[in-house]
Amino acid sequence: MKKCDICHTPLDFFKFRFAEGVICKDCYKIASNNFTGIIYCKSFSEIAELCNVKEDNSLRNGEFEITSRIGNYILFDDKNRKFCLTNNRMVVKEAQKPEIFSYADVIKCEFFSNPSMPITVFCKAYKNSGEIIKSISIYIYLGSQEVKEIKVIASPVRIKSFAFKRSFTFVNGIMDKFSYIMKNIEPEG
Ligand SMILES: [Zn+2]
Repeated sequence: MKKCDICHTPLDFFKFRFAEGVICKDCYKIASNNFTGIIYCKSFSEIAELCNVKEDNSLRNGEFEITSRIGNYILFDDKNRKFCLTNNRMVVKEAQKPEIFSYADVIKCEFFSNPSMPITVFCKAYKNSGEIIKSISIYIYLGSQEVKEIKVIASPVRIKSFAFKRSFTFVNGIMDKFSYIMKNIEPEG
């Protein structure tokens, strides 16, 4: 499946073309300044610049180099072994400052859903039912006794829906990445 050139979200039907490729709706929203600008003549570096600068102005001054990102939830810097919680504008209504943490601080990463179920049974058991998921969060436990929440789903969605499928890709991506981080290795590719 084709992926967003900026955040690597798999693209189903929402895709937006720029001069050298396509991006997802979330990135388009940022690059087009909330759907007001035109992106079709912009190059990849222009789009990347817009997305990163717009979203994470405060990161530019710090020692944070974005090497990968998962949706608009989290940015990773594999070089400096840090991650940044962007406090997703789409879920958290009031924009909060991005927060940066070190990979070394991560103790545990857990997944919670309402209704509650283990991540492994999710898709198998519920894929074809009309079941509704009210929320999904990932909790990241840090050495400082802090617990950070990433709200991936904040309002009820049907498991069959595209919105769910997309969010679930993010959940898996985040969980995978943290399992690598905690093992202190990097995924291949
Ligand atoms: Zn994207």
